[in-house]
Parts: sequence; C-alpha cells; structure tokens
Amino acid sequence: MEKDKNKRVSQFKQIVSGYSNLVKSKLGLSSEEDEKIFQARREICNSCPERSAMDRCLVCGCPLAAKTRSLQTNCPKQNW
Ligand code: SF4
Repeated sequence: MEKDKNKRVSQFKQIVSGYSNLVKSKLGLSSEEDEKIFQARREICNSCPERSAMDRCLVCGCPLAAKTRSLQTNCPKQNW
C-alpha cells in the first residue's frame, strides 16, 4: 500500500517536472540539448503502438506531452 502511494507520488512529480519543462520550451528557455532529447522521445512515442488517441502512454497512463519532457522518467517498455 505504502509502496503504491510512493510510486504514485513519484509519478506525479515526474509529470509536474515534464509540464514545467514544456512551459520552459514554450518560452524558449530550455537548452538545445534537452530539446533534442525531448524530440527524440516524442518521435519514438508517436510511432509506438502503446500511444493512445488521447496522447497518453497505455502502459503507465502518463500524458506523453509531459512524460517525454521529464528527465526523471523513462519509457516503461525501455524504448527510450
Ligand atoms: S513511453 Fe514508451 S511505451 Fe509509452 S508510448 Fe512512449 S514509447 Fe510507447
């Protein structure tokens, strides 16, 4: 039970971090290096069969706009 709660908190923090990085990108404040990482992840997710029509990962349930921009997470299928 406690382990599940910790996992959810960790996932929430990762998503918040991803959305924060999305805002930075929109404002032109993220580094070129990070943008390359986000773009490469995005391309992999875009062609992944686990991507839903609502742009979520069907394995972990995360919104991909944020997940692909969180440097503290990784693909649950080890695709990136
Ligand atoms: S995070 Fe991984 S499993 Fe999920 S949609 Fe992207 S590539 Fe597919």
